[in-house]
Amino acid sequence: MHTPKITVIGSINMDLMTVAENMPEQGETISGESFKTLPGGKGANQAVAAARLGAEVHMIGKVGDDPFGAALIDNFESQGIRIEAVETEPGVSSGLANIIVSDQDNRIIIIAGANGEMHPGYIDKFKERIEASDYILIQFEIPKRTVEHILDLCETLDVPVIINPAPAMQLDDAYWGKATYITPNDNEAKKLFAYDTDDLPKFLDKLVITNGAKGASFFRGDRMITVPSEKVEVTDTTGAGDTFNGALAVALAEGKALEEAVGFANKAASLSVQKLGAQSGMPKRSEME
Ligand code: ADP
Repeated sequence: MHTPKITVIGSINMDLMTVAENMPEQGETISGESFKTLPGGKGANQAVAAARLGAEVHMIGKVGDDPFGAALIDNFESQGIRIEAVETEPGVSSGLANIIVSDQDNRIIIIAGANGEMHPGYIDKFKERIEASDYILIQFEIPKRTVEHILDLCETLDVPVIINPAPAMQLDDAYWGKATYITPNDNEAKKLFAYDTDDLPKFLDKLVITNGAKGASFFRGDRMITVPSEKVEVTDTTGAGDTFNGALAVALAEGKALEEAVGFANKAASLSVQKLGAQSGMPKRSEME
């Protein structure tokens, strides 16, 4: 089997995770329990998922000119992800997720940083890379006009593209129509495609809807086919959707039919939720057999 070539165009973040017993009140300063940095961002997570499963993965993205940027690039290299199209943006911070976890609550502030500097012209620099890919994988943590530009480009170059529409953002129908597959989770499908009304959602033939422990569904004609997940003991579901998307791209690029590809993606995601952390729980190919 040929090694699938996947190009992920998307966000790269450092997650800054502070754990405290309680949330500070307004104006209050408290002592916390621990702090750690974890590489994240939906784009980077999906790239790691695909690379672990044996694909040749190229990342197109930007980091800031701070120590986080250098660490995020090191992380890609340690996973064997190609970084020729990851540039450092001067004068801007890396993408960051400031996360506070307490016993009662989680609070997160995302800073787009260098991810917000992913302009359409930046994507054009890597047209040859895009054209040489079996599949392109994108998410919505980069500017909307860049997403639209990528979809135009993939259509012109005739390269299949998966849109993971997270966080939920509406596109014009003309742009959704350019996707090969669209992979919302259940909530995103409700928001973006009116999935829970009596009418069938638009773009039926493109939708692959993930639904946590229930697995994932797609449509054959107007009949919904659900591929169930295995029952597993859950440790941490962070990054389950990202693992699913990376794995789905690998399976489709290998030429698997949709139903089999969804099963493969479910399997990878169900392995990932058994371990702590988004990237650290993603399975290697050898764990899939
Ligand atoms: P997101 O992480 O984007 O919210 P989901 O919660 O729908 O996405 O999860 C994505 C996929 O991860 C599911 O389709 C399934 O394959 C797998 N998954 C998620 N939660 C579980 C679980 N509790 N048990 C087994 N598999 C799960």
